Amino acid sequence: MTPHLEFARVCKTYRRGERPAVSEVNLVVKEGEILALLGESGSGKSTLLRLAAGLEAPDSGVITLSGGVLASDDAWIPPEARDIGLVFQDGALFPHLSVARNVSYALSGLSKKDRKSKIATLLELVGLAGKETRFPHELSGGEQQRLAIVRSLAAKPKVLLLDEPFGSLDPSLRRDLRAELRDLFKQVDSTVVVVTHDPEDTLAISDRVAIIREGQIECVGDTQSIYQNAPNKYSAHLFGPANGIAISANETRWVRPEYMKLRPVGPVGIPVEIVGTSMNCGSRYALARPSDSRFAVDNSDWLISLASDQHVHARDSYCIKIPTGRKG
Ligand code: ADP
Ligand code: MG
Repeated sequence: MTPHLEFARVCKTYRRGERPAVSEVNLVVKEGEILALLGESGSGKSTLLRLAAGLEAPDSGVITLSGGVLASDDAWIPPEARDIGLVFQDGALFPHLSVARNVSYALSGLSKKDRKSKIATLLELVGLAGKETRFPHELSGGEQQRLAIVRSLAAKPKVLLLDEPFGSLDPSLRRDLRAELRDLFKQVDSTVVVVTHDPEDTLAISDRVAIIREGQIECVGDTQSIYQNAPNKYSAHLFGPANGIAISANETRWVRPEYMKLRPVGPVGIPVEIVGTSMNCGSRYALARPSDSRFAVDNSDWLISLASDQHVHARDSYCIKIPTGRKG
């Protein structure tokens, strides 16, 4: 995949004397990928999207799209000429226009006949066929969000930027919509950046993830690889529970509870002792403490997923196989 949207050493400070919202950001979004921008509140996610869309200008650095400069010290393409779609959390539909006319608005370049068939195709894609004449307030939250996204896709932007698109939806709807949208984006070959603070959104929708912390990119990579083998403690914990294993004096691996397995005591692996069990959202975990404390990071016990038929007791001894190293 070729680079598409690119940030090079981009900086943005809103108010003089304040901490930069975005600092020296280098980031490449590749053509056809779904990239998640994952970070805590205030980490600079929306600022990056606003810079790409042209709602803010960088203090320094260069932003390019398909090789053409959007913003730099001596170039500026206004938002309306950027060919970039931006959808916020609440979609921002036109409340006085029907479903069909909300989409139609984005298709102003087409003939009436082409527009009609395009609207039908798009609404079919997001499961809104048959609801053309409804108004936004007559749709569910998930339908409104799908309409907002399909409306921005109708204009065929080179990149679609979504800012916390699932933020206002309840959890079950959120799960369904993530999967539907991923299918839709792949079907129409969109390049998408999704901003979120939610690890589950990230895992469900993205091909790659960029983790942002206090305005700086902490790491970028294939979403599954970063989830399974985060490069550092911050990135590991942003994605949920992770166990630090000090493999050597200068190498720590961050391993998810579901990738740690308790094995009978044997000649290979790290000996541990069970110190307790816990439950969370229907899953059971063992808490294990390495017999050699040098393996532990910050003296933390390890959380290890248990199978439904697996039972452990305090003071039981096991071994943990050292997980294989990072790929790529
Ligand atoms: P996120 O989307 O990750 O929550 P933002 O990009 O919105 O983060 O904000 C990053 C930082 O910039 C925060 O400290 C925030 O307070 C500040 N900020 C964002 N927008 C503005 C603004 N318009 N004026 C001043 N400060 C802002
Ligand atoms: Mg934000």
